[in-house]
Amino acid sequence: MSTASRAALVTGGASGIGRATAARLLAEEWQVVLADLHSGNGAQVAEELREEFGGRVSFVRADVSEEADVAGAVAACVTEFGRIDCVVNNAGVGGAFGALTDIAVEDWDYTFAVLVRSVFLGIKHGAREMRAAGRGGSIVNTASVAAFSAGAGPQAYSAAKAAVVNLGRVAAAELAGDRIRVNTVCPGLIVTPLIGSDVDTARAVMREAQPWPDLGTPEDVAEVIAFLVGDAARFVTGEEVTVDGGLRAAGPRIH
Ligand code: NAD
Repeated sequence: MSTASRAALVTGGASGIGRATAARLLAEEWQVVLADLHSGNGAQVAEELREEFGGRVSFVRADVSEEADVAGAVAACVTEFGRIDCVVNNAGVGGAFGALTDIAVEDWDYTFAVLVRSVFLGIKHGAREMRAAGRGGSIVNTASVAAFSAGAGPQAYSAAKAAVVNLGRVAAAELAGDRIRVNTVCPGLIVTPLIGSDVDTARAVMREAQPWPDLGTPEDVAEVIAFLVGDAARFVTGEEVTVDGGLRAAGPRIH
């Protein structure tokens, strides 16, 4: 089936992987609602994408850790395009840094609210609409290679991303009967504002741990998300795909 009339909600769509995903889906003629905390950036990005791809993209301000905002973003997609076929739960922050023995409870809770509660809410409200429409759908959550080991991200972030991975699996099992697929993308080191402006440091980390000789780009991740949400992946659900230049596969270097 053509994606010409389908509509997707992409959270964290004002920057990095979310923006690249929106552009990639628009290029495939999806209709897209960007949701982001930062309305200035979001409105501007929507305008830029509209200029490039035509009038099939809009922006809604939403804090993905707030249930009313996520429900509102899903409703905005239905109002704007008459349907919602896909949610990309992608918004994220680095969250609390530091040792588990030092992290304040409110910083821990903030990390899990933005990285995990957000994904639960996107699944809850997105899947309700998809189920009611009876057309099936697809959900992709952005976790991280940090989900799989202790060394690829801050402690709270790693724990939260591990929760995102299993949330994707349980959601896939629950929603398969409604023909709603749920998959998880696990980026490695991707050059976006999230890792800061110090690309040289990123490059040094990469040389140490990542086998592939180039830094990852938002477009590298967007390409995989576009595959996972599309019909080519119709039998793929409950799965994680790493996009990390071999970082996870290589594991620690002891020689
Ligand atoms: P980014 O900073 O470029 O984009 C993240 C977007 O999320 C921003 O536009 C930000 O405003 C938005 N956001 C943050 N908190 C929000 C909230 N409460 N409500 C709504 N929007 C909010 O970062 P990115 O690298 O594109 O990150 C996208 C996802 O990829 C995140 O989930 C991140 O954890 C994950 N990830 C990134 C990397 C990497 O190396 N860049 C690696 C692994 C996973």
